[in-house]
Amino acid sequence: DSDSFDFDLVVLGSGPGGYTAAFRAADLGLKVALIERYSSLGGVCLNVGCIPSKALLHVGQVIDSAARMADHGVRFGEPDIDLDILRDYKNGVVGKLTKGLAGMASKRSVEVIQGTGCFVDPHRIEVEHDGEARTVSFARCIIAAGSRVIQIPGIPDDDARVMDSTGALELHDIPDRLLVIGGGIIGLEMACVYRALGARVTVVELLDQLMAGADADLVRPLHQHMKKLGVRFLLGTRVTGVEAGEQGLDAHFEGPQAPERDEFDRVLVSVGRRPNGDRIGADRAGLDVDERGFIAVDGQMRTHLEHIFAIGDIVGQPMLAHKASYEGKIAAEVAAGHKRAADARAIPSVAYTDPEVAWVGLTETQAKKEGLDYGVGKFPWAASGRALGMDRSEGFTKLIFDKKSGRLVGAGVVGVHAGDLIGELTLALEMGCDAADIGLTIHPHPTLSESVMMAAEVYEGTITDLY
Ligand code: FAD
Repeated sequence: DSDSFDFDLVVLGSGPGGYTAAFRAADLGLKVALIERYSSLGGVCLNVGCIPSKALLHVGQVIDSAARMADHGVRFGEPDIDLDILRDYKNGVVGKLTKGLAGMASKRSVEVIQGTGCFVDPHRIEVEHDGEARTVSFARCIIAAGSRVIQIPGIPDDDARVMDSTGALELHDIPDRLLVIGGGIIGLEMACVYRALGARVTVVELLDQLMAGADADLVRPLHQHMKKLGVRFLLGTRVTGVEAGEQGLDAHFEGPQAPERDEFDRVLVSVGRRPNGDRIGADRAGLDVDERGFIAVDGQMRTHLEHIFAIGDIVGQPMLAHKASYEGKIAAEVAAGHKRAADARAIPSVAYTDPEVAWVGLTETQAKKEGLDYGVGKFPWAASGRALGMDRSEGFTKLIFDKKSGRLVGAGVVGVHAGDLIGELTLALEMGCDAADIGLTIHPHPTLSESVMMAAEVYEGTITDLY
């Protein structure tokens, strides 16, 4: 009986999963509390993730675009960068959004409780803030406590020159020589930012390919573009240690093209994130957390305890904001008694690098591995008037169809604004479109979105003479 508890629903963590769930549940009439250890709502995504990184990437892209203009007869000169103003701009963007969230919470009478929450038993969480503790009881709970960065051994954790993504976004200075450990999405995004701001950047990646989750052909134009702009890549390379040297940080490598050692002014460690499931007192609620810190859930985002749900990074890959908010909505609706379940066909991934890389559904590598009888339609942007006019024709759009059903099963786009283009392809996947559905849809000319239609026509054989 809900009446015997302080709240109908308590949400632990205010990231994109948590705030979405709290607001939806309140809109459905539940009495909701949102527990967050930090003073600012929005979680990793708004404060130290998606949003600040994209503000800085935008600035980097403007700097690069201005520099490229010299090839077209328009010279702007060397950028004069005021880091304090740039930092304020980024913080301003974050501040607008986090304040917006606080307003949305209060409008809905969602009680925001600041402090670190820890389960006391299956129906109570103790929230500790500044040495004071308050216990709140709940009929239902949604765990949205997110994830944190992974540290690696052999790298000092008390040297201010060694940063994680949060430190890199603080933009203390523009190091002359930056080492980025990890060639995943976050490492590459930050490499793009610092390179555009003037740092000499080296990216080291253990695997033989950057962004291992994406198809190799999709990543290649990004790899080449970054290389052209002076980023050094050490693939198939392990960093065996970093030490404080005389002039900088001494990094030691093991890899085919890597030097034995090299010196850097700053090091960014971006080797992944791990869930916070080990830090919420789950055992006292009787909740199972696996050895990595993930909490298992069913299609309704329920844990094995009927009244406790979990969403977002803490339930598994992909660790993405739009996955967290989708799951948040479902958990809130189920908690409010509605019949709902997660049934998304696909979750898009985007690297907001320059150029952007975006993919959804099956990659070609996966299609091959699954033994699917598939076909590919690929449209190179070298044949796109719009891409040529932007002097960014290195991209392409690639659609993967199941030959048996004729339906789209996967798509990848590399090029400027690829992240915006993948939205249409995600819809096409959800709607079960075949190549004719996409190829016969009139797209505006001249846009990059035409490349989606054209790729479908290439698959159907109605476009044959691209070059
Ligand atoms: P989080 O956002 O991690 O929020 C969890 C919240 O819970 C935090 O505010 C935390 O303080 C709070 N919390 C944890 N434990 C407790 C506790 N015990 N008590 C009280 N509060 C607690 N994803 C994208 O989709 N697009 C991007 O462009 C993108 N860029 C990124 C860039 C960077 C640099 C990083 C690091 C991540 C990026 N991500 C991006 C990933 C994205 O940020 C996460 O997937 C998303 O934030 C997960 O949301 P969440 O709600 O699960 O948890």
